[in-house]
Amino acid sequence: MAQHDWLENVFLTRLNEAANWCRKYSFWPMPFATACCGIELMATAASRHDIARFGAEVFRFSPRQADLMIVAGRVVMKMLPVLQRIWLQMPEPKWCISMGACASSGGVFDTYAVVQGIDRFLPVDIYVPGCPPRPEQLIRAIIDLQEMVQREGRVRGLERLRQRARTGLPVLGASEQPGRPEPQRN
Ligand code: SF4
Repeated sequence: MAQHDWLENVFLTRLNEAANWCRKYSFWPMPFATACCGIELMATAASRHDIARFGAEVFRFSPRQADLMIVAGRVVMKMLPVLQRIWLQMPEPKWCISMGACASSGGVFDTYAVVQGIDRFLPVDIYVPGCPPRPEQLIRAIIDLQEMVQREGRVRGLERLRQRARTGLPVLGASEQPGRPEPQRN
């Protein structure tokens, strides 16, 4: 083989770039669907929209096997510790999409019982507006997240959580967060 032949077939890159390329096309979503937005989330995975085209079809109901939390629907205060625990159980690196007005801001449920935006407690990477958002919007969010992963690479979810958490509410599973005390139990 002449030298110029194999030179045309050599591709050089950095390890980080290659790892990010693999990560962005292999999201394993953890669906946290609590309300009507969840139906649109299911439609996104179904045949008409087929989220598999973007490498994100492997929905896992075990947080240990997921790296993309998709919160679809309103989250009530009682469910918040569950959401936080699932998030903490997901391995790093991990990302979060807030799908719909309720998850992002409480939506029309301006009441003490509903979390007024999950980003008060979780580090959200992408917000999807709408009530409910269309599957195309969720797909757009996944494409945007893919671009972000390629750009930023591995940013630890816990780092984001520390940077963005705005309240001091107790976090279940606190032992997994270095420096946080265990919650008091009666
Ligand atoms: S944003 Fe609209 S569709 Fe989604 S959970 Fe809230 S009320 Fe339901």
